[in-house]
Amino acid sequence: MTQAPVAAELWADRRLRTVELRARQPFAREVLDFYGALLGVQEQAYEEARSARPRSGELVAYVAEMVVPAVVNVSIAAGPQQLRAAMAGQIETMDARDLVDAWVKSEEQPAVDRYLARASAGPVLEALGPEAAASCVGPRDQRHCESCGGSPQLSYFALAGEDLAAGGRFLLCGRCHASWGYARMTCPGCGEDSSSRLPIFSEEGTASGERGSVVRGLLGKLGDDRIPEHMPLFGHIRIEACDTCHQYLLNVDLAADPAAVPIVDELAALPLDLYARERGYSKITPNLMGF
Ligand SMILES: [Zn+2]
Ligand SMILES: [Zn+2]
Repeated sequence: MTQAPVAAELWADRRLRTVELRARQPFAREVLDFYGALLGVQEQAYEEARSARPRSGELVAYVAEMVVPAVVNVSIAAGPQQLRAAMAGQIETMDARDLVDAWVKSEEQPAVDRYLARASAGPVLEALGPEAAASCVGPRDQRHCESCGGSPQLSYFALAGEDLAAGGRFLLCGRCHASWGYARMTCPGCGEDSSSRLPIFSEEGTASGERGSVVRGLLGKLGDDRIPEHMPLFGHIRIEACDTCHQYLLNVDLAADPAAVPIVDELAALPLDLYARERGYSKITPNLMGF
């Protein structure tokens, strides 16, 4: 597992990157504005959980009582219209414990419940570390988080100098944000490792030995003339898809952009998600914003 940055840096890095990408990628402003507002609530939840240190058996009740109300409030204040409308319809009958309990048990749940539970439990699990994550339900294998059993929401290539045991590739858990090493050119969804079945879509082309396609026309699709047409928007992010299970993840290459913060950059790469979807791939785990 990679060394987690110290707490203050972790949140400052996310905040700063959200502001940077907001300026650079106008099409992602709505998502990033909301994420920026949510980050404030999550950082506070993280700090409070670090001092309160609820025991594993109290995790669900703690998250439901201490974090869900603030996440509901910020989502109503700053969330996209669709989310606000969905929440307004069920806020009266919502049982915060039930929805957090279903999330840590990896049970099926409605999208709004899953979003609330995930946004609320995430920073608490990050603050408490592996002991709390161990109480979550899910398979512990190569394709799932070794801490909590969650599924990966993104993939990244680490900077040289970090743990290179798995060729420098890591998957990041959609539930507790822990990372684990995973072989390159292997599908995180089904384990397929035949490169002829693992197409990569990127704006910049791919290394030799990989089955790559160059993505063109992303900007035309966005209808946004504020970005010069010749500039690759996502030189450091690519779609890694699989023709066996028809799933994909976005991969963030930190060597190509050392200032990237994978969890933030992935959120802002909406055009790549649309591109993958148009080709019939679905993401192994959508990000917090549902893409
Ligand atoms: Zn996890
Ligand atoms: Zn696959």
